[in-house]
Amino acid sequence: MEILKCSQVTKIYGKGDNQVAALNGIDLSFEKGDFVAVVGASGSGKSTLLHILGSVDKPTAGSVTVDGVDIGGLNHREAAIFRRRKVGLIYQFYNLIPTLTVEKNILMPLLLDKRKPDKDYFEEIVNRLGIQDKLSSLPSQLSGGQQQRAAIARALIYRPAILLADEPTGNLDRKNSVEIIDLLKLSNRDMNQTILLITHDEKVALEADRILTIEDGRIISDQRR
Ligand code: ADP
Ligand code: ADP
Repeated sequence: MEILKCSQVTKIYGKGDNQVAALNGIDLSFEKGDFVAVVGASGSGKSTLLHILGSVDKPTAGSVTVDGVDIGGLNHREAAIFRRRKVGLIYQFYNLIPTLTVEKNILMPLLLDKRKPDKDYFEEIVNRLGIQDKLSSLPSQLSGGQQQRAAIARALIYRPAILLADEPTGNLDRKNSVEIIDLLKLSNRDMNQTILLITHDEKVALEADRILTIEDGRIISDQRR
């Protein structure tokens, strides 16, 4: 089943003489349960693509459809709600709120919607991620690998259909990288979650079942493995 699609997506930054075409007419379709690595040189458009698929950013032209809904038709508030519930975002530098405990950080998407967490599910994910003893700590008291685990727990709290990860292992050592990718694969398998992962790491890319290569804002290769 198709969960995510983009048609003729173009993104141009800047104005007049300073225009940069970050994406040039991208057509892509993702099935439920796809685990996709996005590779390409720095500046090729990977982050821009992820931001547009996650509705963090708007395309200059073209459309993005998630689960049958054209997200270009959403207003500002609807887009914010959509992002929290349908898409989990994971970044290289975790983006945890430094003044809040790990528990509050993980629950933040629910707190923003004034929703109560499902206690069993919360416990299941923090146990699986191995951060059950860190819930009352501040992010700065955690190692990089633990902070990334907390960020993944936050991304999973709404059981999103789609996980978008921008270099999630870019700041981690080999051991932690392998563990983080294994945790993402588990989530991909157990929840039939669609995962798109930007990576510079060839070993990480080879874990995916589909590899997209971007060059100058175009898909130059789309390989199923
Ligand atoms: P990647 O993630 O592959 O490194 P990006 O998507 O970050 O590539 O960037 C693609 C191109 O768009 C680059 O030329 C980059 O400099 C440019 N770019 C990205 N974000 C912005 C922005 N906010 N304003 C202007 N140019 C940008
Ligand atoms: P990543 O490491 O995820 O590829 P980048 O270093 O490309 O991220 O970009 C980090 C942030 O800076 C992003 O939010 C991006 O939109 C912005 N950015 C990237 N390139 C430019 C640029 N040339 N001008 C303005 N903002 C940019």
